Amino acid sequence: MISVVAPVYNEAAILPTFVTEIEQALTALSPKIIWEIVLVDDGSTDGTEELLDELASKSTGSLKIIHLCRNFGHGPAISAGLDNARGAAVILMDSDLQDDPAAFRAFLENWLDGYDAVYAIRTSRRESLPVRMAIAGFYRLVQAISDITIPRNAGTFSLMDRRLVDVLRSMPERNRFLPGLRAWAGFRQTGVPVSRRARHDRRSRVGLRGLWRLSMNAVFSFSYFPIFIFRALGGLALLCCFALAIFVLYQKLRSGNPLSALTSQMFTILLFSGINLVGIGVIGEYVARIYDELKARPGYIINRIKEAAPAVDTPDHTPTPP
Ligand code: UDP
Ligand code: MG
Repeated sequence: MISVVAPVYNEAAILPTFVTEIEQALTALSPKIIWEIVLVDDGSTDGTEELLDELASKSTGSLKIIHLCRNFGHGPAISAGLDNARGAAVILMDSDLQDDPAAFRAFLENWLDGYDAVYAIRTSRRESLPVRMAIAGFYRLVQAISDITIPRNAGTFSLMDRRLVDVLRSMPERNRFLPGLRAWAGFRQTGVPVSRRARHDRRSRVGLRGLWRLSMNAVFSFSYFPIFIFRALGGLALLCCFALAIFVLYQKLRSGNPLSALTSQMFTILLFSGINLVGIGVIGEYVARIYDELKARPGYIINRIKEAAPAVDTPDHTPTPP
């Protein structure tokens, strides 16, 4: 069995198209494959909730809807989907028509060849130039500073084998960067080129704030580089102070007058107090993350589950051969 998992947040306009597209792509794969679609309604407010229930009642295939009790965000919605998928392999994708189901075939072929993860590498993007540049810069930065190799231009759109899904599910961490965790887990992984389609309404649901949070997760969960920078700056500051002390002493010995120091003092104080404050901010970020993990609140809460096929309360994770 293959599960397709997608988070949904206010996508009523294209949901029927999306579900039809996925069903067609799955049916076209092979008659031997059993599949299910798991859609997670992440607290939508535009009628998506009712529409999803309606689609589930009408569906002839297996459509499972997980309604979360509020908007938790893209990452937690994906976790809810993974926790409720039963397939021997799980395909993760967005529900805004940006991820092309034509990639399913390549995913499946690589999986059958023994890969545990097959992720889409975005070959082209339909976003504006500044967004594309920011994304390219982000991937380069993460690749440069992270302790593991996170593939560039690979997002959530991927197929994962059950054992990889179970590894991800067993990780209790809350602020997740899925492409990083997927790479961290290891096993056999490969990428396939997939061009990314344009968003149907050009209005990102994740938004700039969500992207910022995600990039902070990527940086802080996979690297101690921010702390290293401040260690290096601290060392540099000490060297500067040392050099300045020698310079002042030299001036005093040569001319008899110590350096008139108001401007240089102002400069030094501002520079180093600035460095200190940003450094404290960086430590604060790590501390806040430790606090988040300590609070150990659930990442999401399910309001109710609606299933087209007869309801099964606990997911059966026994892998079945395709
Ligand atoms: N999404 C979600 N909860 C949110 C924001 C987004 O479930 O709080 C879903 C959204 O419906 C879409 C996917 O996550 O299917 C990716 O969102 P979006 O397209 O806004 O992200 P972008 O492609 O702009 O990074
Ligand atoms: Mg999108």
